[in-house]
Amino acid sequence: MSSQSYINEVLEHIKRVSPRQPIFFQAAREVLTNLTPLLDKEPKYQKHSVLERIVMPEKTTIFRTVYIDDNSKAQVHFGYRVQFNSSLGPYKGGLRFHPTVNLDVLKFLGFEQIFKNSLTGLNLGGGKGGANFDPKGKSDGEIMRFCQAFMNDLYKLIEDVKDVPAGDIGVGAREIGYMYGQYKKLTGRFDGAMTGKGLSWGGSLARTEATGYGSVYFATEALKKKGKSLDGKRCVISGAGNVAIYTAQKLYEFGATPVTVSDSRGYVYDEEGVDIALLKEIKEVRRASLSEYAKEKKSAKFVSVNDYKSGRNEVYDVPCQAAFPSATQNELNLDDVKTLYANGCRLVCEGANMPSTHEAMEFMLSHDDFIYCPGKAANAGGVATSGLEMEQNASMTSWSFDRVDGELKNIMKNIFDIAYQTSVEYGKPGNLVLGANIAGFKKVADAMIDQGYI
Ligand code: GLU
Repeated sequence: MSSQSYINEVLEHIKRVSPRQPIFFQAAREVLTNLTPLLDKEPKYQKHSVLERIVMPEKTTIFRTVYIDDNSKAQVHFGYRVQFNSSLGPYKGGLRFHPTVNLDVLKFLGFEQIFKNSLTGLNLGGGKGGANFDPKGKSDGEIMRFCQAFMNDLYKLIEDVKDVPAGDIGVGAREIGYMYGQYKKLTGRFDGAMTGKGLSWGGSLARTEATGYGSVYFATEALKKKGKSLDGKRCVISGAGNVAIYTAQKLYEFGATPVTVSDSRGYVYDEEGVDIALLKEIKEVRRASLSEYAKEKKSAKFVSVNDYKSGRNEVYDVPCQAAFPSATQNELNLDDVKTLYANGCRLVCEGANMPSTHEAMEFMLSHDDFIYCPGKAANAGGVATSGLEMEQNASMTSWSFDRVDGELKNIMKNIFDIAYQTSVEYGKPGNLVLGANIAGFKKVADAMIDQGYI
């Protein structure tokens, strides 16, 4: 069968056996359709049914998670761990606590994670987990009880050489702490079963900063290839979590000015540039809405989602030369990217996982003067630094901030180089989506063939 027909057949199969999983399908289609030139060259992948195997998680666990809220009421949630692929190493990937979490979302995230982790060059498999629990507005006690209840099932699946979860949306240092404490109580083990830990108990310096820093390092490499730099560029950032915050911080170091951040309630536009200290105070200490930012900074305005007139994510209406979508999946659609382009933006670098819709991605790839840095390459710095945390835990050492940051910089440069070289080798120079997908896939698929049919 031709590679094209083989790919189409597997995509049809996914639709049949996993109906009503549109986000996972979108992620799978993006990877698989990019593989045609590789599959044309290497018939072994079809021969060994690699596509049929790689789109199916090795193991999926769904469990009930019940905690008692502050009104003594039992609250019931779905907990999940999708252990997608362990060909390159232990399952690795974050936990997301958000009301939109379901199996579709976690399969998409777990699938992306396989290729992202492969691109880091470290021995990391791919997985993802989480719960349809909303930490927003919950008390500290409620968060702790939820995390403990969630770990009461998760602990059976994880261990330093087996499956190593970390944070994602809604899961930061506080949640990792409560979950790790419960893991330790239940297993009696103090091992590297989670990353993103506190600095005094096994965490790595620069892990919190890594995704945002890594995304900016990736953007600088992509710009360098075209003889350009970030210097003097105004940048739009969406999101206000650790990815957005540390993207903003790193942009200043390269002479760029981040002018926006956003959350579920709206966006802040600060024409003087985002004030990192104030942003951190509001988001990390007060855990409050961005509307507080504009109350305290004269040069800023807050635009509430209630005042969005277009029905789109209006943070992308702010004129800029580069944009860093760092909030969530499918937040940047075709109209958004057309608006960015019309306003002079020529670079999108994804800090979030699959923030661009399929149509938005096609638009960016079809414009030669546009640099598009896909998330699975550009935001791999977070999980790569988790890999460095695992390395430190295994050898019972802690590295300096500069050492971790230096390694992160190297890893991001290597990811860019391999994605770029692969795009050249397979006939689409500069198409980093194709380059990242083929390079990430090849390593995992070869390992799957080596390890036999499991
Ligand atoms: N959640 C992050 C990601 O999407 C980090 C995962 C990790 O550190 O394991 O890559």
